[in-house]
Amino acid sequence: RPLRVRVDLIDTGEEPNLQLSLRDETESRRVEEMRREFIANVSHELKTPLAAIKGYAETVELAVQDDPDAALHFMKQITSQCLRLERLVHEMMQLARAQSGPANLHLSSVSLTEIVEDAIRTYEPVAIANDLELVPEVFPGKAKIIADREATLTIANNLIGNAIRYTPAGGEVRVSIEEDSDRWVLAVEDTGVGIPYSEHQRVFERFYRGSRNEESGKGGTGLGLAIVKHLTQAQDGEVSLESVPGQGSCFRVRLPAVASAELNRV
Ligand code: ADP
Repeated sequence: RPLRVRVDLIDTGEEPNLQLSLRDETESRRVEEMRREFIANVSHELKTPLAAIKGYAETVELAVQDDPDAALHFMKQITSQCLRLERLVHEMMQLARAQSGPANLHLSSVSLTEIVEDAIRTYEPVAIANDLELVPEVFPGKAKIIADREATLTIANNLIGNAIRYTPAGGEVRVSIEEDSDRWVLAVEDTGVGIPYSEHQRVFERFYRGSRNEESGKGGTGLGLAIVKHLTQAQDGEVSLESVPGQGSCFRVRLPAVASAELNRV
C-alpha cells in the first residue's frame, strides 16, 4: 500500500518564515475508505428488500380486487422481505457492537459448556427440520472461560446456524469443546458444501457471501462471520477455519480459559 503523506506549507505570519508540516495519513484514509464502503454496502443491502417490498405492495394494490390469491402470494413475499430487513438491522447492530471492541462487553468467568448447550437447544429443531444430525460431543465439565456470555452465545449460534445452512440433508454437524493449554476451543464441524481456500479470508469480511451460495439463493446477510470474528477478537480470542470444498468445514474459536489458580475462587 502506498504511503499517503499530507504536506502543508504554513505561513507563520512572521515573514519570511514558512513551516513545512508532513503527516502520514495512510491510516486515517484507510478508515475513511472503509467507512464509505460500509455505508455503500449498507445502503445497497437495505435498498434491495425495500425495492422488493414497494414492488410487491404495488402489485397487491392491483390484484386485491380481481385476484385475491395472487394478492395473498405477494403479501407473503412482503412479509418475507420484512423479515430479511429485520434480520439485517439486527445483525448490523450486533456488528457495530462487536466492532467497538471490549468496551461494550462484560467479561466474567462463564461456562463455555453451558453456553454451547444453550445454542444446541436452539438449533436442535432446525437441524431436525433440515434432516441433519446435530451431534454434541461429550463436553468436558464447565470449560470456564473469561468472556461475555451474550457475545459467546452469538458466536456459537452463528457458527452452528451456518453449519446447518450450508450442509445438505442427510449430513452431520458436530459441536465439540477442546482444551488447548490456556484456551478453551469451540469447534463446529460440518459435512457440508465447504469453502474454497481462496475464500477463507474473505468469508470473515462483512457482507461477503460465498460465490456459489449467492447463486443458490441462500439469502444470508453476509454478516454472521464478521460478527463472529469481531466478537472473538474483542474477547482476546482467535477464530480459524479449515475446509475442503465438497467435504465440509470446521470453524474453531479459541477463548481464554480461567486460569486454574483462579478456578478455586470462582
Ligand atoms: P451468510 O449470511 O451469507 O451466511 P456469513 O458471514 O455467516 O454470511 O458467511 C459468509 C459466507 O461464508 C457464506 O455466504 C458462505 O458462503 C460461507 N460459509 C459460512 N459458513 C459456512 C459453512 N459452514 N459451510 C460452507 N460455507 C460457509
